[in-house]
Amino acid sequence: MSWKLPLNQIGSGTTFVLGKQIQNSRFREIALDLKQHVWLSEILKELECSPDNSQSHFNLQLNVEKQSEAYRVKAHLQMIPKLECVRSLTQFHSEVETEAEALFFRAEENKGGGEHEISESEMESYEHDGAGLVLSDFVTDLIYTSLPDFPLCQPQCRGLCSECGCNLNDAQSCGLAEETSATSDCPNIHFFQ
Ligand SMILES: [Zn+2]
Ligand SMILES: [Zn+2]
Repeated sequence: MSWKLPLNQIGSGTTFVLGKQIQNSRFREIALDLKQHVWLSEILKELECSPDNSQSHFNLQLNVEKQSEAYRVKAHLQMIPKLECVRSLTQFHSEVETEAEALFFRAEENKGGGEHEISESEMESYEHDGAGLVLSDFVTDLIYTSLPDFPLCQPQCRGLCSECGCNLNDAQSCGLAEETSATSDCPNIHFFQ
């Protein structure tokens, strides 16, 4: 499942919006319908993000602009995904906001068919086949690269007790949390059995 946007639907520029609009756009706007974008609704389900306006857990704005032979795609993403703390394994929601740009070039068949990276700038580049832009790859990369590598549920997260596995952030009575000797009958142990 992917999203291939036909070039003839772009015109000189189009903005695709999911959730609420983040910034003013100079292009005409088209609201993304999640029912037609199963690839995206599955990502939102995995991250427990709702595009519902009342909660605004997922807001994406995608500008697609024609620039001579290339297309410039500019994205602004703001979301509140579900993350898992690397220390305590607690699941929590935290806001992420990011912007990214990419250029889509026409793939050249006469280049021998090998891999060729176009690295004119630090901007990411993708290829298109002259018929459409596969925007789902770009958006998927944007979402996952915006997630923190080492999420922490709180800056001073104390992680899990090495003796009983209890969450030391909540453990009032774990022997180790009180920095006395470890006890095998830590009251938090039943949460992990
Ligand atoms: Zn934590
Ligand atoms: Zn313990």
